[in-house]
Amino acid sequence: MASPGDRIRVKTLTDEIEGILMPSYDQKSILIKLPNGYNVGYEEKEVLSVTLLEPKKTAAEKPLREITFRPGLKTIVILHTGGTIASKVDYKSGAVTAKFTAEDLLGMFPELGEIANIETELVSNMMSEDMLFSNYQNIAESIVHHAKKDIAGIIIGHGTDTLGFTAAALAFIFEKINIPILLVGSQRSSDRGSTDAAMNLICAAEFITKTDFAGVAVCMHHSASDDICAILPATKTRKMHTSRRDAFKAINTEPIAVVDYEKRKINFISKDYSRRGEDKVIISKDKFSEKVGLLKVHPNQDPKLFRFFADNYDAFVLEATGLGHAPTNLGKNLENYETIREFVKKGGIVAITSQCLYGAVHPSVYTNLRRLSEIGCIFCEDMLPETAFIKLAWLLGNYPKEKVEKLMAANLRGEIGERRELNKFCE
Ligand code: ASP
Repeated sequence: MASPGDRIRVKTLTDEIEGILMPSYDQKSILIKLPNGYNVGYEEKEVLSVTLLEPKKTAAEKPLREITFRPGLKTIVILHTGGTIASKVDYKSGAVTAKFTAEDLLGMFPELGEIANIETELVSNMMSEDMLFSNYQNIAESIVHHAKKDIAGIIIGHGTDTLGFTAAALAFIFEKINIPILLVGSQRSSDRGSTDAAMNLICAAEFITKTDFAGVAVCMHHSASDDICAILPATKTRKMHTSRRDAFKAINTEPIAVVDYEKRKINFISKDYSRRGEDKVIISKDKFSEKVGLLKVHPNQDPKLFRFFADNYDAFVLEATGLGHAPTNLGKNLENYETIREFVKKGGIVAITSQCLYGAVHPSVYTNLRRLSEIGCIFCEDMLPETAFIKLAWLLGNYPKEKVEKLMAANLRGEIGERRELNKFCE
């Protein structure tokens, strides 16, 4: 009977392969790590035989590369929060470790050590779908701590699923920060031959050490090939594909810059990005209100949902359809209209964004939209629904209500495009 970490040969009707048996999360299948780093899974019923070739090695791991400080290089701090980029499979034991140190990282991606001196801190070790506002606060605290030192910038290793939310949260928290903070994720775990982690991290490190950019941004693959990374704006970036390495796109705008991985060349696309100044400015407001919701509208929606939001929150974002429509005009949907009207009258805030993502909501193109605007709903122009949710929670955490309404409609961190770029669509 083989156990995780053992080297085995598996025969199926169609294949005969050798590799390391991995822990499987499903009892009816087996998972094998191939020598090239890929995993293959078979259902138990497909397997004809399993032969143990070599039991799990318990010998000590090969010593990790010693880190020596190189005075000629700048310093980058890598904050780990978890996610696929922080996941590593121990080929010998089969166990998954997510707790990287600077040594681990340099062991896996030695090129990083040629670009900068690397320090790391483990802030959390979680998949990003479980993030809470308190996690944003912990990340912000670490940023403030490290930004006081003489460093070139910070890379935040993060799960990809909610990386856009965290990027927006940090952009709002830091009104002014004098170093680059780049969020980096990966679609394939860092130990796989096919991982995108190495290129994303290396491009982020190149960008940090070679440019005068300051502020929060995202660094991920720009195209599906391993050639170019994009530096994307914190409040207008979204994961647009479940698995492609170029899943992250700037919506309704352009990337800030692109980094050519081979040539190590950086081209700025945006000219009005924020730059590093002389002083160490860090201005942060890091509170978030828990009483903010995000509601996606759809046909045949139960009016109880609108009611729930109105009864339980101080404010909510509607992810509306098209130009900002919500089911509020006919039959049982009139109840939703009344719910919103009363809620706003009593001091609640309703912010309207679009499920279309591309383009902007508009309060006056249709009568139905005017009805929502007349009762006080705030139309958020081309702001992403997720960014609107984070912004509203952040505003309510830090400002009095009258100010929140005004600020929600204003552009604070690039979340509302100054010009409508209609040609920027699904690139
Ligand atoms: N669900 C994971 C997360 O967001 C996926 C990833 O890490 O990319 O943490």
